[in-house]
Formats: sequence, structure tokens, C-alpha cells
Amino acid sequence: KGLKKFFPIKGGILAKQVGEVKAVNDVSFDVYEGEVLGIVGESGCGKSTTGKALLRLIEPTAGEVIFDGKDVTKMSTEEMRVMRRHMQIIFQDPYASLNPRHKIEKILGEPLLVHGVGTKEERRKKVEEILEIVGLPGEHASRYPHQFSGGQRQRIGIARALIVRPRLIVCDEPVSALDVSIQAQILNLMEDLQEQFGLTYIFIAHDLSVVKHISHRIGVMYLGKMVELTTNENLYKEPLHPYTQSLMSAVPEPDPDKKKERTILKGDVPSPSNPPSGCPFHTRCPAVMDMCKTVVPEFREIKVNHFAACHLYDEESTQEQTADYHLQ
Ligand code: SF4
Ligand code: MG
Repeated sequence: KGLKKFFPIKGGILAKQVGEVKAVNDVSFDVYEGEVLGIVGESGCGKSTTGKALLRLIEPTAGEVIFDGKDVTKMSTEEMRVMRRHMQIIFQDPYASLNPRHKIEKILGEPLLVHGVGTKEERRKKVEEILEIVGLPGEHASRYPHQFSGGQRQRIGIARALIVRPRLIVCDEPVSALDVSIQAQILNLMEDLQEQFGLTYIFIAHDLSVVKHISHRIGVMYLGKMVELTTNENLYKEPLHPYTQSLMSAVPEPDPDKKKERTILKGDVPSPSNPPSGCPFHTRCPAVMDMCKTVVPEFREIKVNHFAACHLYDEESTQEQTADYHLQ
């Protein structure tokens, strides 16, 4: 709720603060148990920062993160240690996230040790089990990270998150560093694991095509703001926000008979240290109106279960009572 992360910009010989980057600028959303919430947006939109701030891998500047009724941002170090068992993360780069000097046995045993799970033998057994679960032979526990391919290393990254049996996993672009031929395998694995263990994912990607199949709902971020959030189905059927519409038009259409209008956005993403006034998208929006330059559009429910921040829908309101969101 109201999540913010601002990074100071320092300058001059005294390294005084001369400005700030509003990486995440007042973002609010819910995540339901057992769902996959995709978050998409171009690089620098604040999606990874949001994911890391939820787990307090970076401290949020403001806002609340409520998990099981408790605000994670107010937890003590000890409370956080316990909480980390429930909330894990898979990083983008499997090369950088595994210590090259440690055997897989140690890398995967570490989270168990931190959480005081089992004896040495029991931990070794759990490591072998989890390796099998992510599709690697258990005896590979005695190998080093460099003995695995990129896709295998990401399987190990997934195993490391999964081994403490968390409920929520933030998946921060888990396939973007992998060869396209490997991406589908890893996505399928993650989808199977999600179903098998009833996991909740916040699945971050810069590309809609990556989150399309795995997500129940999708949120779209632009310049530190959530601009649209709805079910997968709604988003593809009827994207409301002009930014989402432009992202949609960039997704390749596999059916050559269906012609697609492609919206090319003008200009670059503005700097998050100096975001535009009013609607942050107004400098590139094909539908921009006068008021967009001065008035910040409210992120609100425009249709049932369909949130967006755009003045095009100022007249519309959800008359129906918001139905509780249920997973199909
Ligand atoms: Fe475009 Fe205005 Fe909507 Fe922003 S508020 S997305 S500028 S129409
Ligand atoms: Mg990122």
C-alpha cells in the first residue's frame, strides 16, 4: 500500500543530495494466495525495485507491505528472518546469484541452516530431493555452479528459493538472461511448481509474452507507477491504458491472417529523477489531452477487477459491486 522507493542523487564535492530518483512512486496492489501476479514494464519502470522492496531486500522509503495481516516494513530483524522463510526471491541472473566457490550442496543447504532445519544429513537429503524436483540429478549436489549450463543454474536458483517451502516467491525476470530455447523449459517448470506446491508468484518481466501464459492477473508499470492491473483475460481482451495498448501492439501475432495495428511510441522514457507533471505517460501518449499535462490520473477500478490510471475513463465508474476475485 502506497509503496515508495526513492534513491538520493548525490553531487558536488560535498556529495550533497541534489535530487532523487523516484524508482517506485506510490504503488498499491493486492496479491492473492495461490495466484501468479505478473508485473511488466520497460527497464527502469520500478518493477524489480518493487519486488525487492516487498521483501525488504531494499528498504522502502514509505508504504506498507501487509503479509498475513502484519506489516513487513515494521518487522524486527528476527521477525524478518522468520518471515523470509515464507517470502523468497529468484533473481534474473543465475550466473551472478550463485557463489562460484561453493558446491551446490552448500548453496542449497544454506537457507535450511539459516532457518535451523534438520541435521547435516537431513539437509543433504533435502538438497538432493529439491534438485530432483527442479529436474536435476540429486548427485549433482557435489558439483560447482560452473559445471552447469545457464538453464541448469536457473533451476538451482529456483531450488534455492523453494527449499525452505515458501508461500510467496518474487520471480525477478527469471528467464530474461537465458537463451530463448531454454526460456520455455524454465517457465514450464515454474508453472508446474506453482501448481504442485500452491505457490504464490509475483512474476516480473519486461515482456508481456513471458507473463502471458503463467499469470492470473497482470499489472503494468510505467515510470514508478502502476498504470493498469487486471486479469490476464481482461488485459488481452480490452487493455484500457494507452501504454498497455502500445505494449500489446508490440507482442508478435502468431496468426498471419490477423493484422495488427502497431503503435510506435514516440520519444524515450523520461528520467525517473525528473518525471513529467500530471500523467507520467503524457509525453508519449497518443491520446494525450490538455488536462493530462497537469492532473495526475488516479489509479482506480474502472471496470470490475480492472484498475487503470488514465483520464480517458474519468466519466466511467464501476456500478456493480466489486466481485471478490476468484482464481479459475
Ligand atoms: Fe494518456 Fe492522458 Fe491517459 Fe495519461 S491520462 S495515459 S496522457 S490519455
Ligand atoms: Mg530489473
